[in-house]
Formats: sequence, structure tokens, C-alpha cells
Amino acid sequence: MAVVVVGSLITDIISYVERLPQPGETIRGKSLFIGCGGKGANQCVAAAKLGAECTMIGKLGSDSFSEMHETSFKSLGINFEHVSRTDEAFTGVAQILVEETGQNSIVIVPGANDKLGAENVRKAVALIKEACVVVAQLEVNIEASVEALKLAFTNEVKIIFNAAPAASNLPSEVYQLSSVFCVNESEAEMLTGEKVDSIESADRSAQILQERGCKVVLITLGSRGAYLKDEANNGILIAAPPVKAVDTTGAGDSFIGALAYYMAYYPKLPLQTMVERSCQVAAFSVQKPGTQISFPTKEELPEELF
Ligand code: ADP
Repeated sequence: MAVVVVGSLITDIISYVERLPQPGETIRGKSLFIGCGGKGANQCVAAAKLGAECTMIGKLGSDSFSEMHETSFKSLGINFEHVSRTDEAFTGVAQILVEETGQNSIVIVPGANDKLGAENVRKAVALIKEACVVVAQLEVNIEASVEALKLAFTNEVKIIFNAAPAASNLPSEVYQLSSVFCVNESEAEMLTGEKVDSIESADRSAQILQERGCKVVLITLGSRGAYLKDEANNGILIAAPPVKAVDTTGAGDSFIGALAYYMAYYPKLPLQTMVERSCQVAAFSVQKPGTQISFPTKEELPEELF
């Protein structure tokens, strides 16, 4: 198995409204969209759409939302045998209201994602041992993510750790055991206290993360691209291609999924090239609306990316 993702599966329930309701108010929405999301699931789908052989490790509720995730993953050929179900919580849900101005409000109930335990990850140890890359984030019970890091590290499997959503006071393992530690600007600021709004501040933030034990640090900078600080402490800004963005939701997940793909299938490429190519892939995703549906397939991308 090339890529193993340990992470969240969340059902996005998006209501499009003229304006957001006031507290206590009931309003009529214009349309509804229900789709599969969650950082872990998005990253797994992003890698699978590029052609990576993927396994997902996660937790769903025993409800009808769980079936949607299973159908979608299986249609992409993703190994789903380590996505288990619990009766103790519903499938994770993000209730999203989007008003005409584009302003939104979001409530995420992690539900079953919080029930993913270290033991669920250990059950997949044989797959983790064989993997080229393990990917983990912070949208499931942290014990599961840390177990994934430990198992991958002990078995010399590369690890991309995406410290998202933004959090503070992370256990030392997430810094020390990851091969590539990846955050966006606001997550970097939350972890280091350094406001990331320039190359210099990105470098300072990356430096702080390296002092905590990170090897390679990647800070994604939206339309500006990504800042890469390697193990030898050299920092470089990798520019994103200029494109007309229509929806940047999930850009970070597209980027991480692509990076996992390149690390698994093109391990001899310099890391900088992998990051440049991941920026190109993510730039494709922002030109289409939606999240998983906006992630490009290998066929949609220029040949020089492969
Ligand atoms: P997140 O989705 O986690 O907030 P970013 O916004 O930093 O992450 O985006 C991740 C990557 O997606 C960036 O490093 C960049 O390569 C690409 N990207 C995001 N927004 C744009 C954009 N407007 N134009 C081109 N590329 C983009």
C-alpha cells in the first residue's frame, strides 16, 4: 500500500441562504448540498485521484451518512477495510451556511472521529509497515494520530503530519516523529505565536517548529505558494502558479494529498520539485468549485507533472 491516511471523515451539509440567521431566528434556505469531506478523507481522495494506491483509517457512525463515504471511497478504489463504525456517535458532520456575499458560518461536530482510537490504528500495522507514506492530521482523537506517527516512525515509513485544524500544546511526538510537518499560515501562527505574513516571518515560524524537533517544515501560503525549510535549515519560497481561483476550500488537502503521492511514487525527486508539483496540483483544485470533486485526476493534469 503506497499511502495510508489516518484521519477524519466528515459529511458536509451546506445550506445556501440569502443571509445568515440571527440567534433564535428561522429562515428559509435556497438550496442544499450534501457531500463527503473531512481533512483525512479529502487528503486520501486527493492522492487516490492522482493514481495512488490508498488506505484510509478512520471512524464513522452506524448511520446513513456513513454509507455515502463508503460508496465514494470504493468508487475511487480506496481500501476502506480500516474505516470502522461506532454505535456511540454519529458520523462527523459539518453544518455550513453560506450566504450570498460568500460569508459563511460553520459548526463541526466531530462525532465518530473522536472515537478513533490507537487500537484501530494498531490493527492496520501490517499496512503501515508496507506503506511508502503515512499521512495524519488533528481532526481525529490525537491518540490515533500519535499512534500512527509512532508506528510509521519505528518502521521507517515517511510521515506527513498536517497540524490542522489549528491547535496549540501538541505532544512532542508530532514534531519529532514527522518527516514533513505541514501547516498553513494560521496554524503556524497558532503553534508558534509568530504571525506569518512574509517570507521572513514564515522562516521564523519554521525555525521555531524545527527547534521543537521538526525535520522538514512546509508552511502553505495560499495564493503565494508554500515556504519550505529543509533539514539543512535552508528556506525557499515556492510560488503558486497564478490562476483565477473560484473556490479555495480544501486547497491545503489537495496539496497534502499530492505531496503524499509524489513522496510515494517519485521518492527520488528533490523535495523542492515535489512541493512545486503539489502547488501545481492544488492550483488546479482552486479553479473548480467544491472540495473532493475539485481535486484533479492524473488525466486532467499536464504530463510534465508525472
Ligand atoms: P489551506 O487550504 O489549508 O488554508 P492554503 O490556502 O495555504 O491551505 O493552500 C494550500 C496550497 O494551495 C497553497 O500552498 C497553494 O499551492 C495552493 N493555493 C491555494 N490558494 C491558491 C490560489 N488562490 N492560487 C493558486 N494556488 C493556491
